[in-house]
Amino acid sequence: MRPDILNPLFAEVETLDGVGPKLKKPLDKLGLTRVRDVAYHLPDRFVTRRPVANLDEASVGEQIVVALTPTEHRASGTGRGPYRVLASDAVGNICALTYFGRASYSAKKLLPVGEQRWIAGRLDEYGQMLQIVHPDHVAETSEGLLATLNEPVYPLAAGLTQPKVAGLVDQALARLPDLPEWIEPGQFTKTQWPAWADALKLAHKGHHPAARDRLAYDELLANSLALMLVRADNRRRKGQALHGDGRLRNKLALPFPLTGAQQRSIREIEGDLAQDTPMLRLLQGDVGAGKTVVALEAMLVAIEAGCQSALLAPTEILARQHYETLRTLAAPTGIEIALLTGRDKGRAREAILMGLYDGSIDMIVGTHAIFQDTVTYRNLGLVVIDEQHRFGVSQRLMLAQKGRVTPHTLAMTATPIPRTLTLAQYGEMDVSRLDELPPGRQAIDTVVVSAERMGEVVDRLGAAIAGGAQAYWVCPMVRELESEDIAAAEARFAALRARFGDDVVLVHGQLKPELKDAAMERFASGQARLLVATTVIEVGVDVPNATLMVIEQAERFGLAQLHQLRGRVGRGTAKSVCVLMRGGELSETGKARLALMRETQDGFRLAEEDLRLRGGGELLGTRQSGDTPFRIAELEQIERLLPLAHDDARLLMERDGGLASERGQAARTMLYLFERDWGVQLLRGG
Ligand code: ADP
Ligand code: MG
Repeated sequence: MRPDILNPLFAEVETLDGVGPKLKKPLDKLGLTRVRDVAYHLPDRFVTRRPVANLDEASVGEQIVVALTPTEHRASGTGRGPYRVLASDAVGNICALTYFGRASYSAKKLLPVGEQRWIAGRLDEYGQMLQIVHPDHVAETSEGLLATLNEPVYPLAAGLTQPKVAGLVDQALARLPDLPEWIEPGQFTKTQWPAWADALKLAHKGHHPAARDRLAYDELLANSLALMLVRADNRRRKGQALHGDGRLRNKLALPFPLTGAQQRSIREIEGDLAQDTPMLRLLQGDVGAGKTVVALEAMLVAIEAGCQSALLAPTEILARQHYETLRTLAAPTGIEIALLTGRDKGRAREAILMGLYDGSIDMIVGTHAIFQDTVTYRNLGLVVIDEQHRFGVSQRLMLAQKGRVTPHTLAMTATPIPRTLTLAQYGEMDVSRLDELPPGRQAIDTVVVSAERMGEVVDRLGAAIAGGAQAYWVCPMVRELESEDIAAAEARFAALRARFGDDVVLVHGQLKPELKDAAMERFASGQARLLVATTVIEVGVDVPNATLMVIEQAERFGLAQLHQLRGRVGRGTAKSVCVLMRGGELSETGKARLALMRETQDGFRLAEEDLRLRGGGELLGTRQSGDTPFRIAELEQIERLLPLAHDDARLLMERDGGLASERGQAARTMLYLFERDWGVQLLRGG
């Protein structure tokens, strides 16, 4: 149960004055659903304004406060252009106050001709004329404006204004309860951090790095502590020691020898499975490193020991593909393998559920459908989670609850997570690394071309297909509406089909499952030569004969994502090419990112650089989902503060693993505050 003291913070935003159905929507869009979220809605930056007596004292581009007297209102002829109010300063300089769209209505009322007003905003030039576009404030007296020369700038959504958000933040801050301190007292002497409520208030008021650090630290501490609680709980749980006798693995006839890294990982996993503490291991390996066979061997160990194994995939396409691959590879062993996705209904589904219940199915491959409440296993010994980064921690926990005894868990990820983030996302999981690619792989040639050269690219594609190759064409997911993205992908598909005929297939997220399967099937079997797709193919798809990939508007993708996409080619022994098509003008960072893609194929390096480049500014604040599990801590803070938070959490766990002491209780409150309370729920009596 959440401590009562937090109730004011977890009240709905509607309890703030002025929030009705109209504001609810933009607030939702920003993720602000409770008072807590508003209090933590920190400014992106601050504007500092300078009061000036007249416009001669100000320079263009400067944020100022000045007294102006409107002399004339000018609506544009068509009614569509901007609405301008001409105004004069104390010495007769004329400045236009310019409004677009609906804002012009308020301009008419706020700026009557002949009456002096105090204006705050950024001085710009429009042709020969000075102008201020959408002044931040218009007031009858100077008091308020001169009192707030330093003002926060909040992230907004359509329908919200800065003053509106600032007003809501003020209300939220007025409701902050007096929370007990959860940070180790020693920390404060080193850092001079403010107490929690003070830190929040300061962070809204001005540039205050210590306050920001403290708030970020709280979030990192909560995360570390929660993961440690999960880990500790896992250690307490009863698992079953699984000793495989090799009888199934001996029957495998893999078409290639395992790499050293694969053999080492398998040994590590085997060692874990032989313990009666449930395994919690992460298998990290770049795209194409060969994680699937490692998973197969692990699952066979469990089956040799008389248990069932399950493999969870993030998408249906991937589940189906794993099923086909595993069925082929494991055919000589004679084990029973089944596929279960959300799509299976009725009799077919019943038959699979029965097989899992009576144990006649040894290995199940599927999407989250394999862990729904109605699914009961006879004896589930091992769960493998592919593309782990797609699943949240709570899902991981849910899996752990599934068997009578807790199954072993092997999580696999191709996302080359920088070390700092590994700690954040996986806490204290044991890690096996596939740091060696199978032999014979050739580097992928990566080229960057402008979209204007589309014609050439299509010609080249034609030549590759004529030569017997297969290719991917990736359309970006960038528009606000998914339907528009799909329309764009369909248009591209139609154009390519007009040129290449039946050899082209299309896959996107909204396609009917049967059609999706049929398209994937035709491509995987080599009947179709070109697969046009949205990013649904990002993870896992394995068609070694595909040697050309074209990515449209490549600058829109994150480096890690481009790396994943590119990893779909270069999987066989033939030379592969990846064409990154860029849209319009690129920013410096954009150029640097694409150049980096050309330069290296090392996933870890790309991930580290991505972090660095983004820390540099371009995407700062526009967090891509799944990047980090944090809302408050910025990447730079994660790197700097996470190790401290991690040590702090460990110390607390050592001294007071049950979180019973005064500080332990405070830490519980913190876990609830950051909604990491699944950690608390694992505590006995929590
Ligand atoms: P990922 O780690 O990205 O999941 P996969 O398991 O899909 O990689 O393997 C990529 C490709 O490499 C597959 O076609 C697989 O058959 C092949 N492969 C895996 N291990 C080896 C190996 N030791 N030698 C040669 N090819 C291998
Ligand atoms: Mg894979």
